Amino acid sequence: MENCLFCKIVAGTIPSTKVYEDDLCLAFRDIAPQAPTHILVIPKEHISGMSAVCAENAGVVAHCLVVAAQVAKAEGLENGYRIVSNCGDDAGQTVHHLHFHILGGRKLSLEMA
Ligand code: 5GP
Ligand code: ZN
Repeated sequence: MENCLFCKIVAGTIPSTKVYEDDLCLAFRDIAPQAPTHILVIPKEHISGMSAVCAENAGVVAHCLVVAAQVAKAEGLENGYRIVSNCGDDAGQTVHHLHFHILGGRKLSLEMA
């Protein structure tokens, strides 16, 4: 996708601090961390968000979650963490390429909305 920020990060035309990469997905540090550990896990293929998840891309989406669990472990988040995927305007999605936030490293607020 030409004008997608995260596709540009996948392509390497926009730099990022990578923490994990394989053929299907990439994990990198969020540029504006909301917690001591704030990492984004994204599929390398462009999927616009949770509303575009379907049977055809379920494999790569599941892989992103497996990687998120591995990254959280590697980051030492044994006390807990949160996985968030904002979908659409009401959730405040700002980048329309599917991403899973990994948030941890402190006691997180229980507020959901
Ligand atoms: P959303 O608001 O769509 O759920 O999450 C988008 C996230 O991408 C935000 O947490 C924001 O800080 C992060 N972000 C936006 N632009 C960049 C960038 O250029 N590099 C990195 N590493 N993160 C970014
Ligand atoms: Zn994209």
